[in-house]
Amino acid sequence: MLTRRGFLHRAGAAGVAALTGARGLFAAKFDLLIRGGRVIDPSRRLDAVRDVAITGGRIAAVDANLAATDAAATIDAAGKLVVPGLIDIHTHVRSMEMPSICLSNGVTALLDAGSQGVDRIDEVLAAARAAPNHVRILLNVARTGILPDGELMDISRVDVAAAQKVIAANRDLIVGVKARLSRTVAGKNDLEALRRAQAITAPLKLPVMIHMGDTVSALPDLLALLKPGDIVTHMYAPPPHGIFDESGRVLPEVLAARKRGVWFDIGNGRVAHITWAEAERGLKQTFVPDTISSDWTDAGRTDQVFDFPNVLSKFLLLGMPVDQVIALGTMNAARVLPAFKDLGTLRVGAPADVAVLDLRSGGFEFVDNDNTKRTGKQKLFTRATIIGGKKA
Ligand SMILES: [Zn+2]
Repeated sequence: MLTRRGFLHRAGAAGVAALTGARGLFAAKFDLLIRGGRVIDPSRRLDAVRDVAITGGRIAAVDANLAATDAAATIDAAGKLVVPGLIDIHTHVRSMEMPSICLSNGVTALLDAGSQGVDRIDEVLAAARAAPNHVRILLNVARTGILPDGELMDISRVDVAAAQKVIAANRDLIVGVKARLSRTVAGKNDLEALRRAQAITAPLKLPVMIHMGDTVSALPDLLALLKPGDIVTHMYAPPPHGIFDESGRVLPEVLAARKRGVWFDIGNGRVAHITWAEAERGLKQTFVPDTISSDWTDAGRTDQVFDFPNVLSKFLLLGMPVDQVIALGTMNAARVLPAFKDLGTLRVGAPADVAVLDLRSGGFEFVDNDNTKRTGKQKLFTRATIIGGKKA
C-alpha cells in the first residue's frame, strides 16, 4: 500500500524530473552509458549482453539497447565483461598511492587487513581518507602492527582497552580486528591473542579476521574461538594445521565453522598461504572459498600476486566458471563485510562502481606460493574502472 508520505515523496521526485527536462532541451538522461558488454551481476543472477546507465553516481538502468543519445558520455564495452566494481577484502595499504593503484585494477573497495595497530593506525586512516575508492581497515590486534619478527611473540603488545578506544574514535573506517596467528608471528600465544581479539570486538559487534596456517595450536582449537561473521584468511594454506586431516579430507571442525557462519577467504599473498594442491583438494570436496582476496603488498606487485584480476584468474585455471569467480570478488565480498553491504552489485540505485574487464584467451602463466608454474587458458585484464559514476 502506498502511504501518504510515500506518495508525496514520489510526486515530488516526478516533479523534479519534469523540471530538469524542461530546463535544458538537450540535457542528457544519463551521465554515462556503458554499452553492449556482457554484464555479469551475480547479485541479480544476471549474465547477458546489456547496457548499464549511470546518473548522479548511481546505477540508473541495466537494460538491452538503451539509447546512446540519452547519455552525456559512453563507453563501448562490446566483447568485454561489465561487472560490479571488484572488492578485495585482504590487502595492505602501506602507502598513500596504494588505493589508487588498486583502483586502476578495477578494485573499487578494499580492506586493509591489519597492517597497523594502535601505535601507527593514523597512517592507514590517512590513506583511507584520501583514497579515491572505498577503503576500510582491520586494526591489528598487536599495537605495533605487523612486525617482521612477529608482532604477537610478546603478548603484552595486545592492549584491549587502547584498541577499543581507537576503534570507537574511527568507527567509520575501522571495521574489525586482524590477528596473524602463524608460528613465526604469534608462537605459542596464538590462542591468547585470539581471545584478546574477541575481547576487543565482542562489545562492538565487529568481526575478527584470523590468518591461519602453520600455527602452534591446531586449527580446530582456533576455530572454536571464532564467532559467526568472523573471517579465516589463507584457507588453502599448506600444512601444518591447514583445513585438511591427514587423509586429505576437510576437517569436520572446519565444515562446522562454516555452517555456523564463519567465512573462509583466500588471501593469495606470497609465502605459505596457497598452493595448487591445497586449492584443488578443497575445490574437489566443494569446500569453495566465500571470497577471493589478494593479500596485495608492494612486494606482491611484482611477485605472484601482481594484481587482483590476476588472482581471480587463478581460479579460472582451477576450473571455476567466470561468473562464480566474479561473485567471489564482488557480491560475496560485500556480504562478508557489513561495511561493504551496499556494494558489489549493479542493482538500480546502487553506487555506480563498475569494472570493465577483458577476458582474454591464450596461454598465461600463473604461480602458487611454492612458485610452481601453471599455464591457464584465460585471464582477466582491467579495461576501465568507474567509481561513484566517474571514470577512474
Ligand atoms: Zn595479509
